[in-house]
Amino acid sequence: MTAPAERIVIEKCAVATVDADDTEYPAGHVVVAGDRIESVGPGPAPAGLDGVVRRVDGTGHLLTPGLVNTHHHFYQWITRGLATDHNLFDWLVALYPTWARIDEAMTHAAAQGSLAMMARGGVTTAMDHHYVFPRGTGDLSGSIIRAAAAMGVRLTLARGSMDRGESDGGLPPDFAVETLDDALAATEETIDKHHDASFGAMTQIAVAPCSPFSVSTELLRQGAELARRKGVRLHTHGSETVEEEQFCRELFGMGPTDYFESTGWLGEDVWMAHCVHMADPDIAAFARTRTGVAHCPSSNARLAAGIARVPDMLAAGVPVGLGVDGTASNESGELHTELRNALLINRLGSHREAALTARQALRLGTYGGARVLGRAEAIGSLEAGKLADLVLWRMDTLAHASIADTVAALVLGAAAPVTLSLVNGRPVVEDGRLVTADEDAIARATRDEARRLARIAGLTG
Ligand SMILES: [Zn+2]
Repeated sequence: MTAPAERIVIEKCAVATVDADDTEYPAGHVVVAGDRIESVGPGPAPAGLDGVVRRVDGTGHLLTPGLVNTHHHFYQWITRGLATDHNLFDWLVALYPTWARIDEAMTHAAAQGSLAMMARGGVTTAMDHHYVFPRGTGDLSGSIIRAAAAMGVRLTLARGSMDRGESDGGLPPDFAVETLDDALAATEETIDKHHDASFGAMTQIAVAPCSPFSVSTELLRQGAELARRKGVRLHTHGSETVEEEQFCRELFGMGPTDYFESTGWLGEDVWMAHCVHMADPDIAAFARTRTGVAHCPSSNARLAAGIARVPDMLAAGVPVGLGVDGTASNESGELHTELRNALLINRLGSHREAALTARQALRLGTYGGARVLGRAEAIGSLEAGKLADLVLWRMDTLAHASIADTVAALVLGAAAPVTLSLVNGRPVVEDGRLVTADEDAIARATRDEARRLARIAGLTG
């Protein structure tokens, strides 16, 4: 006989469910039973519930689905604040030699730093696109998965790869790339070892060659075949800059979207970071194929890449989520601030005052992200039967107390403190602090590993 589920009751808070109707309750409740949401509704929780182990008074708070990050490079946590005034290609060329010196200990510490910063800010599902695998440096993928598992944060690890070095017309130096066969074999091994296809999976793997200018056409083709044979998702960078567009036209005789389509890289099992330089036919192709987009407004601004046409994508029916991108191009590494940045930047980009609303921004950061990661059945909204990934934001302090509309306050106001976040019904943050990891120890470890990397890479004496 299985034990009855332990229940957590959260009530007396505003609730933004982000369900299909955007249902909100000014004072509502959520009941969590085990790892699932059992009920969501207005007013207090139903009376007479058995097995209630915790009852949270949410007065002065807003309850939302946990935030879902759809694009990141965890290892960059230890190369922040470098090449701060460069465009994408110059920034990559400046950083590749340092990145090529990472090892397992550095990767693990950087993953902890990235995960801790996001989790503290309400992220319950993280994503890491890791594509730097120097030879003989240990089990980098395993170290990332260990860090997320220990912190209790849900993870999609996109096993990245690069096989087009400088001598093949690519951007990365030859010493930073793998061979085609090594990249495919290691990706398949990572899927076999770590991918969990179950509803409640804490770890999923995607196939993720890095970008058109760092991987061969064959790696894209065979990577897509591998992903579809294994039933996992596909991820890469696309249409990030004008330079990438020129690169594709010169080398392949077509723009990035047509190139991706020619290699099997448009489809409802694909999501792509950035998609900044998209003409109407490109957006139509993404909509037709249900290819997803990870919108990364801060990184695009930091690298002067441009402004993605998110309102046009949404109008066309393209699935869109939010990403922080690697923290070498977005030093804050926080997703909740991206809600605000997405709204502001898209209004600037479109010159339209309602181009993106606060509720649309919250949807991008929750349900939209779940959709592009292929997890919309399980996470991304507060609905009975879904996994209990949720965040209780404190809205009664100086920063937000005078704003009546709590969703507007969360998106437009200062970054709100997290009173409680649950992943699979288990607390990850309490009163603004991680409870599954020691933030101060992680801060020290990441500082030490950043210094060690700088020394090895010759950045410091
Ligand atoms: Zn990226």
